[in-house]
Amino acid sequence: MGENQIRNEEKRSLNFIEEIIEEDIRTGKNESRVHTRFPPEPNGYLHIGHAKSICLNFGLGKKYNGKTNLRFDDTNPVKEDIEYVDSIMEDVKWLGFDWEDRLFYASDYFEQLYEYALILIRKGKAFVCDMNAEEIAETRGTPTRPGIESPYRNRTIEENFELFSQMRAGFFPDGTRVLRAKIGMNSPNMHMRDPVLYRILHATHHRTGDKWCIYPMYDFAHGQSDSIERITHSICTLEFEVHRPLYDWFIREIGIYAPRQIEFARLNLSYTVMSKRKLLELVRDGYVNGWDDPRMPTVCGLRRRGYTPESIRNFADIIGVAKRDNVIDVSLLEFCIREDLNKRANRIMAVLNPLKVIIDNYPEGLVEEMESMNNPENESQGKRKVPFSKVLFIEQEDFMENPPGKFFRLAPGREVRLRSAYIIRCENFVKDPETEKITEIHCTYDPLTKSGMPESGRKVKGTLHWVSAMHALKAEVRLYERLFTKENPDDMPEGQTYKDCLNPNSLKLVTGLVEPSALSAKVSDKYQFERIGYFSVDKDSSAKNLVFNRVVSLKDSWAKIEKIKET
Ligand code: ATP
Ligand code: MG
Repeated sequence: MGENQIRNEEKRSLNFIEEIIEEDIRTGKNESRVHTRFPPEPNGYLHIGHAKSICLNFGLGKKYNGKTNLRFDDTNPVKEDIEYVDSIMEDVKWLGFDWEDRLFYASDYFEQLYEYALILIRKGKAFVCDMNAEEIAETRGTPTRPGIESPYRNRTIEENFELFSQMRAGFFPDGTRVLRAKIGMNSPNMHMRDPVLYRILHATHHRTGDKWCIYPMYDFAHGQSDSIERITHSICTLEFEVHRPLYDWFIREIGIYAPRQIEFARLNLSYTVMSKRKLLELVRDGYVNGWDDPRMPTVCGLRRRGYTPESIRNFADIIGVAKRDNVIDVSLLEFCIREDLNKRANRIMAVLNPLKVIIDNYPEGLVEEMESMNNPENESQGKRKVPFSKVLFIEQEDFMENPPGKFFRLAPGREVRLRSAYIIRCENFVKDPETEKITEIHCTYDPLTKSGMPESGRKVKGTLHWVSAMHALKAEVRLYERLFTKENPDDMPEGQTYKDCLNPNSLKLVTGLVEPSALSAKVSDKYQFERIGYFSVDKDSSAKNLVFNRVVSLKDSWAKIEKIKET
């Protein structure tokens, strides 16, 4: 393949944002600098949608040898909190990104933004309006019907100056006056109809305290903040496309550096809600146990569940960026963590639904240390010893009294291999006469079939996981399922809300038995429980009381269910 061809290959794989950036670099725009930012409002915890935006912005900064700022767009003191600021910084770092010395706050620019407002007033492009929020809404019109001009629109520049400085000085109660842009009331774009720039709000800001009692609207702060930071490419989600003419108007009228805004489709995930309002409701009304509940799509929830930063970055990469709204199947996210953990998680054996097995011909009191690979996908993860003894536990599901032909697990008269140990044969079983439940099974083992021994070659169809009864550790195992039963919880039938499709089985607690090597497990260590799934040690875990979260099952069980439904 020639070099040109390789270039073309590379070019074809660029997404539309990279194409714009490469064109700007080629034409020397902004001295070919690339400078992006991630601009959260500190009014909630970050979710997987934000993670996509973070990966995109910081990823582009890295790819083009540029810079990426973290900036809090903290213009609404009523909804914002330092708790959110801290969690957002922690999450961005955890995802693997570094803003270096470029941590900014829109509130750092309040004085500058005030100056910008004065420029507009001086040009006759902004006025103080005495209407309240309701009156302003009533006179805005509709997209097809023009709005009505404010009776205060033609105040003199001097009067506007005077009133605006009085607004700042705290002369007026909340909601009695606003500063508005003077653009016109006829634009088909509602955002352009003499929009509000400043409102009076006697509220304490988490950073500026009581210094201000007027606050800029988000729209008056966001674009100018990008300009002040000399952001070259302001990447945001599609809903801001209709705000762009307004941002451009501010930049032009104030006469400052113009970043280029590029919109992309926000991430939507099936079986998930992503609105901050809904996530807040789930937390506040106790449907989940906090922002970091492992069922939440928040970054801290995914982290606690056992997701790795690599798996989330890889997910963001695979889904790419689109210009149209779409919904990504949540099983793709699950696929990404499964793939990542398959490569790196140590295997251990755990039994979640124990059934006692007694090896009748195994010597009483003997304990053998069975050597077992930590990860067959990666030999460098080494080996460990798993104790084997006369009394074991296997899963209830791995034994059937009257099995169908293709049941390759244990049944009367049948043989299986116990992972890293021996081939055993079921001789008989004990059943509780009242409940009909199988309470224990009796087996014999074949001493010549010890794993790893030269004579061990005899083949049987099934291999089961097990734990030794006297060595196993008890553990609390939290089995998580998707939080919602409907693919699109935001789109429910008339009269229902997303809360009507909460999955009642999204958390199942079981007491499991795990092999003793788990004693050294530390919080957020990841394991594959053989034949079951991937598990992560929860923050509630201790040596006395082990707690594991199920990250994902080994296979996509939902896909299987869907298939069964189809056939
Ligand atoms: P709000 O309604 O409070 O504005 P928001 O979800 O837009 O909520 P921000 O804190 O403003 O939250 O978001 C920070 C950045 O993350 C913005 O650039 C926003 O466009 C981006 N973002 C938010 N949600 C998603 C999503 N689902 N997919 C991709 N990017 C997102
Ligand atoms: Mg926003």
